[in-house]
Amino acid sequence: MTKIYPWQNTQWQRFQKMQQQNRLPHAILLSGPKGIGLKEFAQSAAMQLLCLSHQTISNIACGICKSCRLYIAGNHPDLNYIEPEDSGKQIKIAQIRELIEYVTLKSFTGKRKIVIIEPADAMNRSTANALLKTLEEPPSQSMLFLLSNMPSKLPITIRSRCQRIDFKPAHTEADIDWLKNKLVDTKYSAEALFRLSGGGPLRALSLIEGEQLEFRIILLEDLKSMSIKSCDTVQIAANWQKLEIENILNWLMQIILDLIRLKLFCEKSHLMNLDLKEDLQDIVNSLDLVSLIRNFDFVLLKHQQSLAHMNYNTLNILEEILFYWNNPETGN
Ligand SMILES: [Zn+2]
Repeated sequence: MTKIYPWQNTQWQRFQKMQQQNRLPHAILLSGPKGIGLKEFAQSAAMQLLCLSHQTISNIACGICKSCRLYIAGNHPDLNYIEPEDSGKQIKIAQIRELIEYVTLKSFTGKRKIVIIEPADAMNRSTANALLKTLEEPPSQSMLFLLSNMPSKLPITIRSRCQRIDFKPAHTEADIDWLKNKLVDTKYSAEALFRLSGGGPLRALSLIEGEQLEFRIILLEDLKSMSIKSCDTVQIAANWQKLEIENILNWLMQIILDLIRLKLFCEKSHLMNLDLKEDLQDIVNSLDLVSLIRNFDFVLLKHQQSLAHMNYNTLNILEEILFYWNNPETGN
């Protein structure tokens, strides 16, 4: 069913206005931090656009018409998804060609043909170029939702042909309360999770699944032992590899940023890893500011490289980072 989260109300109203004023575009770029619910928003919008009932009052799909029933069953012939075939990889040009063909077909319910592309920034330049013509001369019934946590990665030619609906990080008391109500049986506070999530409530909620929060402690301990004695970096890199590369690099950057904050301000209330403040304080004295900044830049660079290249070697990246941690002066 439709799922508009409390922090999405303004954007939902904007979307309603576009429809009421008859100025709905053929492509909308939804952007915002991870876990802000872009996909749920696009799905609710799609369900409403496909709904066959007259919706003069409620501004949401009826949930009972033929189209809504198809949507709920998960097999609406007028709604399609484009996402990388392998997680974390690029969307293929063949997928875009299928999309182009799809939106030119007659719609089943006589309304629209809708495609949700997620993440849109997983299109490289030639894939994006393949989509360009459809954005420039869209078939009359087509509607594309492009979803991205990193819209700046999209070519300007794509961005300029989409209407944008942006979502800022959620941060109000009501947003934190929403998370509090969802948390059961966890040692982490809603505030700590919110801060770690970067303002995406759904991401904040997902952080307590699995072991990634505990993994931060391993990262911190490994960095600490590397700072005071020589270690087997190959072994550490192999151990880190157990987590997804993007997660490790994100946690590493957050940890290093917190160490920099502690160096600069000695103030703990602004830390991202608020729950690890004692452990961070413990390690910070053995580190110097310049090395920390160089290390942050280096991890950031590796993060960008891992996002840009399809065939990176995770273990190599981690070994490079660990080597650099011990020898930051090589970055001169
Ligand atoms: Zn309906």
